[in-house]
Amino acid sequence: MAETTPDPETTAVTAGRSGDDGALAPTIWETTTFTSPDVAAARAAATSTTESRFYSRNGNPTVAAFEEAVAELEGAEAARAFASGMGALSAVVLAFCSSGDHLVAQYQLYGGTAQLLGAVCPRFGIDVTFVDGTEPGAFAAAVQPGRTVLVLAETPANPALDIVDLDALGAIKGPITVVDSTFATPLGQRPLDHGVDLVVHSATKAIAGHNDATLGVVAGERELIDWLWGFAVIHGASASPHDAANGLRGLRTLAVRLERQASTAQRLAETLVAHPRVSNVRYPGLPSHRGHDLAAAQMRNFGGLLSFDVDGDGAAVGFIERLALVRIATSLGGPETLATHPVSTTHHHLNADGRVRLGISDATVRLSVGLEHPDDVIADVVSALG
Ligand SMILES: *Cc1c(COP(=O)(O)O)cnc(C)c1O
Repeated sequence: MAETTPDPETTAVTAGRSGDDGALAPTIWETTTFTSPDVAAARAAATSTTESRFYSRNGNPTVAAFEEAVAELEGAEAARAFASGMGALSAVVLAFCSSGDHLVAQYQLYGGTAQLLGAVCPRFGIDVTFVDGTEPGAFAAAVQPGRTVLVLAETPANPALDIVDLDALGAIKGPITVVDSTFATPLGQRPLDHGVDLVVHSATKAIAGHNDATLGVVAGERELIDWLWGFAVIHGASASPHDAANGLRGLRTLAVRLERQASTAQRLAETLVAHPRVSNVRYPGLPSHRGHDLAAAQMRNFGGLLSFDVDGDGAAVGFIERLALVRIATSLGGPETLATHPVSTTHHHLNADGRVRLGISDATVRLSVGLEHPDDVIADVVSALG
C-alpha cells in the first residue's frame, strides 16, 4: 500500500493510542503512583519529562495518550496537558516569564487570560503591552528586542471573532510566540505550520466537546514542552486521567461535530444579517466580517461561534431570556447551543473603554452553535428576536 499522509480528520481518530494496551476506547489509568523495580529506575523516572509511569502529577499514561494525540494533530513534537485551559495558559506565562520580563498580547482575549495578564502579571513584575491583534504589524512593533519573552495571541478571539494573521505572528523571531487556538480546534487551523512556537487549547470546549471535562493542553517543540514540564509539575495544574480520556473520546468525533456546528453557524449568521432587529453580526464565514479573507486563508473551517448585537435598550438580555431551545450557559463547542451575554459574564471586568475597544456592548450576544437540527436552532433564535 502506498504511503500517504492521512488527513488530520483521520489522525483525530487514530492518534493517541499508547495508553490503552489494546483496548479500543481510552483506558483510564486511575492511579496516583507507579512502582519501580529498583531505586535507580525510580531516580530515572523522577526526573524524566517523558515518563508517564512514576507519579501522576508528573505524568500518567491516559494523559500522555491525549498529549500524544494533540501533538500529532498540531504537527508538534510534544504536548503537555493541564487541569484546564487557564492551567495551561498560566503555566505558559509563569514558566517562561520572570520579574522584569516583557510580554506582548492582544487585548481581544478570553476574560480569564485578560485577567491573568492584566492583574496577575503586574504583581510578579512581568510587564505586559496590549495591542490590537487585528492591526497588521502590531505585535512585531510592540516587541522590545532582548526584553520581550512571550507574544500571546488568540484567534479567532473572544468575543467578537477577531482574526489574527498567523503568518505575521510566526515571522516574529526572538520571543516565544503562543496562540490560543481554542475557538478553531486542532482541526480548524494549525498555528505551528505558520512558524508559531506554541499552541494552547482549552480542551474543555470543542476538543472534549460534551461539557463533561475541564482540560487544557499546550503543544510545540520538545525543548519548550520540557521546560514547561519543569514548571508544570510544581504549578500542579496537572490533567486528570478521567478528563484526558474524555478529551480523547472527544477528538474521535471532533471533525463531524465541527462540520455540523460550522454549517449551522453559517446559516444562522446569514439569517441574522438579514434580520431587522440585529446588527453587527460577527462570523468569520461572512464575507462582511473584517477577518474573512484571513480566516479563509488560514482556517479549514469557520467554526461554530458567532456574536451579534440585538438592537434596542435591554433587548439583548430580553432576547437571551426568550430563547427556549438555546440555553444560557458559559462555555462553547458542546452539543447544546449556548447563549452568553459577554458584558455580564465572560467580560464583566471590562470598563466602558475596554468594551469599545473590543467592539462589544450591552447589546452583544455570543452564541456557541451546537448539534441540534439547524432548522430548530434557527427557528428558536428567530422566534426569540420577536
Ligand atoms: C474557555 C477558554 C479558556 C479557558 O479554559 P478553561 O478550560 O475554562 O480554563 C481559554 N481560552 C479560551 C479562548 C477559552 O474559550
